[in-house]
Amino acid sequence: MKILLLEHPRSIIPERCNDIANTPLSSCLLTGYAAGMLKREGHDVSIVEGYLDGLSYEEIQDRVRAIKPDILGVHMVYQWRRDLALFDCLEGVKSEALASSITAYGFFATNASKDILKSCCAVDSVIIGEPEVPFANLAEAASTGIYTPCVPGLAVRDGSGGIKYQRQKPIEHLDSLPLPVRTEAMYRLPEANLLGSRGCYGKCTFCSINSFYGLGSRWRGRSPENIVEEIDEIISERGLREFYFTDPNFFGPGQKGQERALRIAALLKPRDIRFGIEGRVNDIHDKTIGALVDAGLRHILVGLESGQDESLRRMNKMTTVAQNERALHILRKHGVEPNVGFIMFEPDSSLQEIRINFEFLKRNDLLNNLPVTTNVLYHHQIVLEGTQAYHNLQKEGRLQLQTASSYEGTAYFKNPEVAVLADIMRQITNIVFSFMEGIWSGKVIGHVGMLERYIKVNCMLVKVFEDTLTALEAGEQFDEKKITFLVREAEKEMGETLKL
Ligand code: SF4
Repeated sequence: MKILLLEHPRSIIPERCNDIANTPLSSCLLTGYAAGMLKREGHDVSIVEGYLDGLSYEEIQDRVRAIKPDILGVHMVYQWRRDLALFDCLEGVKSEALASSITAYGFFATNASKDILKSCCAVDSVIIGEPEVPFANLAEAASTGIYTPCVPGLAVRDGSGGIKYQRQKPIEHLDSLPLPVRTEAMYRLPEANLLGSRGCYGKCTFCSINSFYGLGSRWRGRSPENIVEEIDEIISERGLREFYFTDPNFFGPGQKGQERALRIAALLKPRDIRFGIEGRVNDIHDKTIGALVDAGLRHILVGLESGQDESLRRMNKMTTVAQNERALHILRKHGVEPNVGFIMFEPDSSLQEIRINFEFLKRNDLLNNLPVTTNVLYHHQIVLEGTQAYHNLQKEGRLQLQTASSYEGTAYFKNPEVAVLADIMRQITNIVFSFMEGIWSGKVIGHVGMLERYIKVNCMLVKVFEDTLTALEAGEQFDEKKITFLVREAEKEMGETLKL
């Protein structure tokens, strides 16, 4: 079978430029893993990097026309309801008969399968969860002329307006999978991404990792030896020394998880590499972090999420503020300044809780770096289909959906003052992002003296947050006119500071 896998272009609407939830980072290797499996099964597989290569939909159609695949697989990523251009492209492919069958896969495709099959007639099926095995089964069936077979993990229309599928079980032994296929575009990234494990033993209400892998999903790790085999291959073929583990949770649970991390560190140490990981604060232990830093750990993202225990309980984070602070201390002791996940604004936040969060960030020196400050002083809880939060808000009748898609919901803030602060910070941090987009994305070189300007903008952001919070605590009223004035003033001040 001739199979073409597409990473489509991704467009972000300006007002959501500070939201990073279009897809988990771990999804970046889904296409590579699917390609690895399909190649092992003897299929002729090509990958079109519409996103990394900056292709237009016309160019993508040309590529499909040149290959005329039996199956076009599309890694569908959430685009804040801007899917129409992609759907039009797929309709074009279908109407020209450029591909016999189109299947979608990925986090968005899994959790919005019904919407996708309803909105885009060109899509014949959607792979639910991990793509490797259902895709291989789909290709095998297609080789006998059956393009929408009933195989576990494949959602298809049921003929009466609904969809039908049977969930597959998560893959048990990850070492049994072929290594992911890597494209030239992937090698142009500053680091080679790796996936050392899948799933998570946590159950945070806002997270869609486990709903992607399905019921019974749990943390599954590759063996340290299998991971190192892949790293060695990349070093010997490309000479790369920078890696990033895109695992949602690098550490497995408990003592076993720590022992595995120590084994990985021992194997990586002689290889002279630098790498980054993501993890939970309760897995940050002195001995393990020391060994990982010794082996090349330079970057880590930890999900702190909140500065107060009640909020962590609401999110079912299964961690405490004390654990957050302990993790920060251990990481800094070993010379690693962490990047942090933080949800400042939850639908149920009170003004008092926002104050506690703010004091937590100040006390822990998390408001000194502009990109971090911009994130932590802004982040709203994003509510995506498949998460517990989505389900709970829907049950309570508080979930607001737009008619175009049911994938992302919003919930009104319970507290009107919190809503005001959240609105102001959303608008102001979006302004920072639009000023800095070119520099932060590496497309524009920052001017000399940029650091001083960053520091100034950072101070402005912290000040506007604190002043507004204090005013709201004192009972000051903010109508639309006052909010607009505040935002415009901040924009003017930042514009003058960041003028290039
Ligand atoms: S710790 Fe929570 S947010 Fe992070 S991957 Fe696990 S469930 Fe998701």
